[in-house]
Amino acid sequence: MPTVDTVTGPLPTSALGRVLMHEHVFVLNHEYARNYPETWDDAARTEDAVSKLDALADAGIDTIVDLTVLGLGRDIERVRAVAERTRVRVVVATGFYTFTELPTYLRLRGPGRMIGGDDPMEDMFVRDIEVGIAGTGIRAGILKCATDAPGVTPDVERVLRAVARAHLRTGAPISTHTDPRTARGLDQQRIFREEGVDLTAVVIGHSGDTTDLDYLQRLLDAGSYLGMDRFGLEPLLSFDDRVRTVAELCARGYAERMVLSHDASCHSHNFDPAYRAEHMPDWHFTHITDAVLPALRERGVGDEQIDAMLVGNPRRIFEAASDGRAQRSGIEKRWSDLSG
Ligand SMILES: [Zn+2]
Repeated sequence: MPTVDTVTGPLPTSALGRVLMHEHVFVLNHEYARNYPETWDDAARTEDAVSKLDALADAGIDTIVDLTVLGLGRDIERVRAVAERTRVRVVVATGFYTFTELPTYLRLRGPGRMIGGDDPMEDMFVRDIEVGIAGTGIRAGILKCATDAPGVTPDVERVLRAVARAHLRTGAPISTHTDPRTARGLDQQRIFREEGVDLTAVVIGHSGDTTDLDYLQRLLDAGSYLGMDRFGLEPLLSFDDRVRTVAELCARGYAERMVLSHDASCHSHNFDPAYRAEHMPDWHFTHITDAVLPALRERGVGDEQIDAMLVGNPRRIFEAASDGRAQRSGIEKRWSDLSG
């Protein structure tokens, strides 16, 4: 039976239900929290997160994928404290989020760098997926990387290649951050292809931030899924444009190749709740169920297509990973039978 790792244990992929493929429990800047403790209230934020995720369960969503990795303040103990108390299942990620440079620790290590040695990131990611994160035994279910307007800088390329190699070793799917206005998804596909990644294992994220159908068509033709995953983030693209683009791609037969999400968080250290309320009032977890699904239906998107985007596609993405895992452990077992 194919399974996916969640914070609260392995889950059969058949039980994933309706999935939001790109969200965050907490986006956190630990240095600020540690040095300016008035900027972060752990107990209050935990309570608030549980109630926001329970509201999401009430709205009919069963699972979220929390794409908070290093660079965004991943803190697995804090996520566990929330996940253990809510009805929504949480899949967590490994990888690295940077638009330009890695932090010094990683910049100094790796081939051609001052301290040298192998690139440590690939093994870090594989350990998070196969052993667990920070000694908790909680395994990451997906890999994440980012390419924004600055393009494929040397450090961004390192992250993309480490993610690709960790994917090839573990089978875990890849989900990305892109800047679609500079067509960064195509850069990511090129590097993944060079590394031998099957592009059907890749979700090119933030693809819903553009109305450029030619660009989106190129990503689809290469085999990847599109993350239409920033609903509610109006300052970047309007509600109508986001809905129209998804409806148009559904009409062209691509419902089986898109996933939906908000890229929202229970709390982001970077945005005060008051700022969010004023500037992005719809950027929250239930915007899709409240407003986007009715608007898609109005534009002719059927229930079967909505189920594909929320249920069938996420399940297929994680099932492919699980099948790969089973195959590899079969190969390992045959090897150990041969050598034993
Ligand atoms: Zn995100």
